[in-house]
Amino acid sequence: MICDLCGSNKNVSVFKVEPKDEYVNLCEVCKSQIESGNLDENHFQCLNDSMWSEKSAVKVLTYRLLKKLGRADLMDMMYLEPEELAWAQAEAEEKFDSVGNKLNNGDNIMVIKDLPVKGGDTIKRGTVFKNIRLGDTPGHILAKNIYIKTEFIKKV
Ligand SMILES: [Zn+2]
Repeated sequence: MICDLCGSNKNVSVFKVEPKDEYVNLCEVCKSQIESGNLDENHFQCLNDSMWSEKSAVKVLTYRLLKKLGRADLMDMMYLEPEELAWAQAEAEEKFDSVGNKLNNGDNIMVIKDLPVKGGDTIKRGTVFKNIRLGDTPGHILAKNIYIKTEFIKKV
C-alpha cells in the first residue's frame, strides 16, 4: 500500500475523508501533519500530483489541504465534479482545546474546571473522557453524550 498523496510506503494506513464513508491511504508523515494541522509546505509539494488523482476522496482531501496552505493557484487548476466540491466544502469546523491543540474524533481530553451539568452531577475538574466526538455544535465537543465547551478542556 502506498500513500495516496506522496507515494511513500512508510506506515501507510487508511484515513477517512469526512463526512463521507470513503477513505484514502496515508503514510505516517502525511497523516500526522493532517491530524495536527501543522502542514509542512515542502512535504505537501506532493499535492501537485495528487490533485490529478482519479479517486474522489484523494481529490477532496487534496483540495482541502491546498486551501489550508493558501494555494488558490492550484485549487483553480483542479477540476472537481459538483458533488466532489460540495464534499470538499462539507468539512467539519476545526476545533481546538483551551491551549490551542487541534481536536480530532477519538481524542482523550481532560476537563480543566468544575462544570455543572443541567439536571446532573458536576463534572469535576481533572475528569478524563476518552474517545470524544467533535459533534456538530460549534465550540463544543461531545464526551459520552455530554456537550462540553472546548475552552474548558485540554487534550491528554
Ligand atoms: Zn504521504
